[in-house]
Amino acid sequence: MEEHLEKMISREKTEAELEEPPGSRLNWHNQLGNRITETDVKNLRVPFAITPYYFDVISKSEALKKTMMPSEQECIIKPEELRDSLGEEHDSPVKCIVHRYPDRVLFLATNMCASYCRYCTRSRIIENDIIDIEEDWDKGLAYIREHKEIRDVIISGGDPLVMPDTNIEYLLANLREMEHIEIIRIGTKVPVVMPQRITQDLIDVLKKYHPLFMSIHFTHPDEITPEVKRACNKLADAGIPLGSQTVLLKGVNDDAEIMKKLMHELLKIRVRPYYIYQADLVAGTSHFRTPIEKGLEIIEKLRGWTSGYAVPQFVVDLPAGGGKVSLVPEYFLYKDGNKYHFRNFEGKRYSYQEA
Ligand code: SF4
Repeated sequence: MEEHLEKMISREKTEAELEEPPGSRLNWHNQLGNRITETDVKNLRVPFAITPYYFDVISKSEALKKTMMPSEQECIIKPEELRDSLGEEHDSPVKCIVHRYPDRVLFLATNMCASYCRYCTRSRIIENDIIDIEEDWDKGLAYIREHKEIRDVIISGGDPLVMPDTNIEYLLANLREMEHIEIIRIGTKVPVVMPQRITQDLIDVLKKYHPLFMSIHFTHPDEITPEVKRACNKLADAGIPLGSQTVLLKGVNDDAEIMKKLMHELLKIRVRPYYIYQADLVAGTSHFRTPIEKGLEIIEKLRGWTSGYAVPQFVVDLPAGGGKVSLVPEYFLYKDGNKYHFRNFEGKRYSYQEA
């Protein structure tokens, strides 16, 4: 019993240590204000900036360093690569809206992130294309208000969680006032690169606007630190369903064991693995791209071999605005009359007879 109490007390201490005393390096304003921005590499297509917290994380991880530290390879532009690889500008009726699918829109709330990923799909807007909070947001909200077929809004950017609580609340409150908006999603990497941002004040804002979902951009198991665990647990405790999005990156996470470990660690902190993305055809990112077979191989080594909840969808976001397609390894072999023949995850053959 005493030992149990001791354990509880020492856990409380750890939780308290992870809180963000005002003025300390743990405070998120200081993390943003003291980002590391110096680099020797010139003419970058994506700005270089990284929070002190995440710099410590990548310093201990050769894999994660590749995702954040600029490289001369970014100057190599392949013919198939594009500035706007997903053709989002074509589907943008007003500046901060991308309306591609019938019942949902993307709301690009800001052009800023806490730390910049070298493979970013939205490199064309981040820290270049200033989004005016009054003018552009109001036009975006007016568009959603007028389009009653929209039932789902994904707030992204840049990273919406770098904004002050008041701005986040302004957006959420305006969306919640619209009766046709059923769900709101936030797409973010902040819980990973600046987990100090997940304060009680932010939680108090977010939980007023349910049903609210959060898609968190994770890359590698080395990102799952005590700080990230605490941030995700706080979000989950506030009733926010959490899902992960991971870009498949050469030399970083293109390995079934690494992906399996990441998916298991995510489930332990109540983040449901959602998507593994094939890297987009973004200008200057060919050194990160894997063959599509690599993604299928990873799914094949997860499906059946571990919990179904740990198996995300592998998707290719088609260039020029084609949208996402989900790829799965082929388990169906052939049909013989009304009998279907399959192989299972171990390669053994089985059949299913239809009525
Ligand atoms: S967090 Fe997202 S938007 Fe920001 S740099 Fe990384 S990939 Fe791009």
